[in-house]
Amino acid sequence: AARSPDNLRCPIVVIMGHVDTGKTKLLDKIRKTNVQEGEAGGITQQIGATFFEKKTLEAQTAKLNQTEQFDIKIPGMLVIDTPGHESFSNLRSRGSSLCDVAILVVDLMHGLEQQTIESLNMLRQKKVPFVVALNKVDRCYAWKTCKDTPIRDALKEQEAGTISEFRNRALDAKVQLQEQGVNSNLYWEMGDDDWSNSDFIPLVPTSAITGEGVQDVLMLLCQMAQRKIWKHIMWCANLEATVLEVKAIDGLGMTVDVLVVNGYLREGDKAVFCTLDGPIITEIRGLLTPPPSREMRVKSDYLHHKEVKGALGVKVIGNGLEKVMAGTPVMVVGPNDEEEDIKAEVMSDLTNLQSKLSTDRVGVLVQASTLGALEALLQFLREETQPPIPVSAIGIGTIHKRDVTKISIMNEKGHPEYATILAFDVDIEREAREHAQEMGVRIMTAEIIYHLFDQFTRFMDELTT
Ligand code: GDP
Ligand code: MG
Repeated sequence: AARSPDNLRCPIVVIMGHVDTGKTKLLDKIRKTNVQEGEAGGITQQIGATFFEKKTLEAQTAKLNQTEQFDIKIPGMLVIDTPGHESFSNLRSRGSSLCDVAILVVDLMHGLEQQTIESLNMLRQKKVPFVVALNKVDRCYAWKTCKDTPIRDALKEQEAGTISEFRNRALDAKVQLQEQGVNSNLYWEMGDDDWSNSDFIPLVPTSAITGEGVQDVLMLLCQMAQRKIWKHIMWCANLEATVLEVKAIDGLGMTVDVLVVNGYLREGDKAVFCTLDGPIITEIRGLLTPPPSREMRVKSDYLHHKEVKGALGVKVIGNGLEKVMAGTPVMVVGPNDEEEDIKAEVMSDLTNLQSKLSTDRVGVLVQASTLGALEALLQFLREETQPPIPVSAIGIGTIHKRDVTKISIMNEKGHPEYATILAFDVDIEREAREHAQEMGVRIMTAEIIYHLFDQFTRFMDELTT
C-alpha cells in the first residue's frame, strides 16, 4: 500500500522521567481503567511494549472528547514499557531514539529532577514532540478525588486553597522548565501561537492513582501524532526495526526482542543483525508475543506468528543471536537485495562510532548496555568534558576478563591513567573484577553519565596533584 495520511501506523510512545515520578503507575492506570470498564481486548501485552487499540483510546478519552470533538485516526498506540529497574541508558536507547511522541513525567511535589532534565534534553535533541505530565496532583492539600476525570473538570471541584497550591507548584515547574530553555504552559491556557510553535510544551496535571488528567494526556498524544508527525507515521511496507534487548529464555535459547516500527517480519526471513564482531545473518525461526491473558502466562508460553506487521514488539528466535547488540537495526535480505549492502547498512551506526575513537589508540575503554547508551556516553565524553576524555575502545554488555586484558595494555603503553573501564549500566563478571585487581585496571561504574565523568575527573585530579 502506498504511504498515505489515511493509513497511519501506531505512534510509538515512551514514558520518561526521574525515578519515582509515577511512570509505571501511569501506564498501569491506563491499563486498569480499561479492564475496569469491561473493555475486553483493546489492550495487548507485547514484547517490551503495550498496545492500546483505537477503540480503547476512544473509550478512555470519551468524556473529554465531548468538548474536544477530535477524530482519532491512528490505529492505536504502542507504549514502550518502563520496567521497575529502568535505568537512564535503557530509556535513552529504547526511548528517545525510537519513539514518535513522549510523556515526560514530573512529580508536581518535587519539580524537575536530574533524570527529568536528561530526558528533556534527549527529547529535544531528537526533536520528539512530548507533553509534560505534572503527576501526583492529588497530593495537593485537601484534593478532592474526581476519578478518571478530565483535569479541568477536576480542578473546578477543588477549594480555593487547593487551587492556590496547585497554581504555585505548576508555576514552579514552568519556571524550572524555563531555566532549561523550555517554554511551557498548562495546555488549556496555551494560545494559538504557542500551539504552532513546536518548541512550546503543553503541561498536563495528572494523578496516576485516581486518574485525573489521564484522558487529557491520551488526547494530547493523539493530537500530536495526527497534527505534528503524521508524515512520519504513515505506514510503509519497508521494514524498519530495532533491537530492544537480547535475552536468554529457558527452552528457547538466546532470543532478541525487536520493536518492528514499519513493514513486516516473517518466519523464514533472512535477517541481518549487528554485533561488535561484524554483521550476522540468520534465518528467523520463530516470532513470538505473550499470550493474551496475563494470568495464564508461563515462562515459555508464547503465541507464535508466521508474520508480524509494524508497529509492534516481538520476540525473535534464531541461531547465533548471542552477540547481537541492543539498540541496533534489524534488516532482512530480500530477493533483489545485495547481501553486502544490507550488512553495511546494519553496521553503519557502529562503524560510525568506531571511526570516532582516538586514532592513536590511547584512551579508556567505554562499556555500555546498548548502542544508544554508548552513543550518548561517547558524545558526552567528546563534547562536554574538558579536556575531552580519550576513548580507545568500546564494548556492549557484561564486562568479561578479556575486556580487562584488552585495556590493561594502557599500562604498558605508559598511560596507566587510561587503564580504566568506564562502565555504564552493565554487569561485571566476578573473574573480570579479580583480573582487574591483578592487572592494575580500574573499573568505574555508574547509572548516570555525570557520575562517571565526576569519578574519572576526580581520579585524574588525584593523579596530577
Ligand atoms: P516510577 O519510578 O516513575 O515508575 O514511579 P512509580 O510508578 O513506581 O511510582 C512511585 C511511587 O509514587 C509509588 O509509590 C506510587 O504509588 C506513587 N505515585 C505514582 N503516581 C502517583 C500519583 O499520581 N499520586 C500519588 N499520590 N502517588 C503516586
Ligand atoms: Mg517504574
